[in-house]
Amino acid sequence: MLHRLLDGFATRFGVVIAVLAGFVLCLSAGLYFQSGANRVLKSHEVFRQNHVRDGFVSISDMLRLTLVVDELVASNALTPALHDKLLAALDILYVRARSLETRESTLFPDDDAETPSDAIFALVDFVDGTMAAGVHDIAQLKLELLWHIENTRSRLVTFLDKMRRQEDKFLDQQAREVEQQARVVGVIFLVLAAAMSISLILLRKEIVARHARARAERRADYLAYFDALTTLPNRIQFTDKVEKRLKKKLPTGVLLLDLDGFKAVNDTYGHAAGDAVLKTTGDRVAAAIAAQGGIAARLSGDEYAVCVPFEDVSVLEFYADSLLEALCLPIDFEGERLEVQASIGVVASEQVARCLGLTFSNMMRAGDFALYASKEGGKGRYTVYDDALEVKFSERRGMLEDLEAAISDGGLDVYLQPKVHLPSAVPYGFEALVRWQRDGKFVSPDIFVTLAEEAGLVMDIDLFMLSQATRIIAERNAAAGATFSVSVNLSALHFNGSNIVEDVQTALERSGLPPELLTLEITETVQIHDWERVRHVLAQLGALGCKIAIDDFGSGYSSLAYLRNMLADELKVDRTLIEEIVHSQESQHVLRAICELSSGLDMSVIVEGIEDIAQSEVIQKIGCARAQGYLYGRPEPAELAIDAALIRVAAPQTYAS
Ligand code: C2E
Ligand code: MG
Ligand code: MG
Repeated sequence: MLHRLLDGFATRFGVVIAVLAGFVLCLSAGLYFQSGANRVLKSHEVFRQNHVRDGFVSISDMLRLTLVVDELVASNALTPALHDKLLAALDILYVRARSLETRESTLFPDDDAETPSDAIFALVDFVDGTMAAGVHDIAQLKLELLWHIENTRSRLVTFLDKMRRQEDKFLDQQAREVEQQARVVGVIFLVLAAAMSISLILLRKEIVARHARARAERRADYLAYFDALTTLPNRIQFTDKVEKRLKKKLPTGVLLLDLDGFKAVNDTYGHAAGDAVLKTTGDRVAAAIAAQGGIAARLSGDEYAVCVPFEDVSVLEFYADSLLEALCLPIDFEGERLEVQASIGVVASEQVARCLGLTFSNMMRAGDFALYASKEGGKGRYTVYDDALEVKFSERRGMLEDLEAAISDGGLDVYLQPKVHLPSAVPYGFEALVRWQRDGKFVSPDIFVTLAEEAGLVMDIDLFMLSQATRIIAERNAAAGATFSVSVNLSALHFNGSNIVEDVQTALERSGLPPELLTLEITETVQIHDWERVRHVLAQLGALGCKIAIDDFGSGYSSLAYLRNMLADELKVDRTLIEEIVHSQESQHVLRAICELSSGLDMSVIVEGIEDIAQSEVIQKIGCARAQGYLYGRPEPAELAIDAALIRVAAPQTYAS
């Protein structure tokens, strides 16, 4: 409620009302105090002008009467002129006595003492009586008159004195009342002023908060359509604008760019350097199309896109060339010379309309495929989506459709390859490897797992393998009284927002496999941007009790980034390092260094790809105690692999040259 009120006040209109209310409050306080003072003054005035004046005037009337009496005494006879004067003075006195009488009854209603008006009436009666009876003795009349006059005057003086005292009392009482009211009203005004100040403070806070909210909303609006780092339009804006063009059937060319070597910059020089590269790239892409009125956007990570109003392939090729040229220029960053280049996929609306149907998603899919072809073809180049690529693309689409069907129809198989202890070569666990047959032929996982990764299907494959492998191993362990462990491959894509922790927990609960017998092999096939999240997910997986292995270690420069950031229990040394291990001193040095490194980090090492006894002997000399490779067993259908392993556990086999 308060919030809504403040919301209402925190408008321009509300501020005006608040200020007006404050003004009215001050004004009414001033007016109230002024009216109090006026009341006191008015009471004083009433006394002065009415009551007191009556008293004074009566005294002066008495004086006039005294003068008449003096004249009467001087002439020693009541002449007609004196008679008239006397009656006129008495008339005036009579009128005065009437008004005095009212005042007396108002001011002193309970006073029984003889009042001045009584005295005046007595005087008038006396004179009237004397006149009626006739004046015989002037001296006597004079004496009696003077007695009456004196009596009346003294009463008037007493009356005036009483009135003054009454006035003082009355004024005192009024002053006290006004003072008391002022105190009450003062407190009310203080409370109102405090409430007003508090509401003004809250109001100010609300206004500040509103400004902040408005700023944040403006920022959110901006971020909804622009990329914060490069200030280029983002994917949403790009999609919007290109879709509009395509709907109007305007000639449109799209160039999709992906940086080559960006990961290396990020891993070697850190994120600040990576950001500098992304920003400079953004500036260069924007500059390259500035003159043509196209749209340059950053889609995500190191992916950019350009849309230009042309569908002529030679013009698009010209753009691609100039972009490649601009993007391979070195970038200075804190004294370092950073070098990246770009791969570009080029697609024209006319080609897409002919082959796939003109939609935004088809434009992007075709552009992606052309980009992928550039990467495949050796990077740092562009590829145009043409008829030849269309053929390959449709093949790929066909494979993807079949793979999707295989994933949903249970067309994938779980193969297991043993992992062994050295030197005994006794299997202690397996790696689960996915197999898929298309048209009766096995498709290499290197092909379809990569395809699935690009199409976002790999998570489904991994979850299938996770649930199947844990179930099979748990069942066979229980049946044979064995304690085989199993490793399941997980694409790093799971770290970008899937529910992998819940999925692993579910698989463990459903299968009943003890968590310590499950290892999750993280393969570095996609770039990880949010290491913070990776660490958080890994910590949660570790808390479940399962183990983490870094797969294919030593196959790429950035494995060090994995090592630095991942809380892993195991390093799987990549096969490429083992291929030459027998003859290459360098490979042996590297393997030795990896073993020392992992023991320093409290990680175990397992070597992949052992194909012959010579390799096995070399790695054992270096100190490796676990291995995996064709020498100890090829990947086989799960049940067969477990049968073979159980036989070898029962009767260990020696491998020696
Ligand atoms: P990986 O995880 O490193 O698996 C080991 C690969 O090396 C397997 O290839 C295995 O058959 C092969 N290999 C094992 N010993 C030897 C050997 O002595 N010599 C040679 N030449 N090769 C050996 P495969 O099964 O073709 O799998 C290839 C890759 O596909 C895997 O490499 C893994 O990265 C990925 N992959 C396989 N299954 C899955 C899966 O379920 N999920 C995910 N995300 N990736 C998977
Ligand atoms: Mg693996
Ligand atoms: Mg591997």
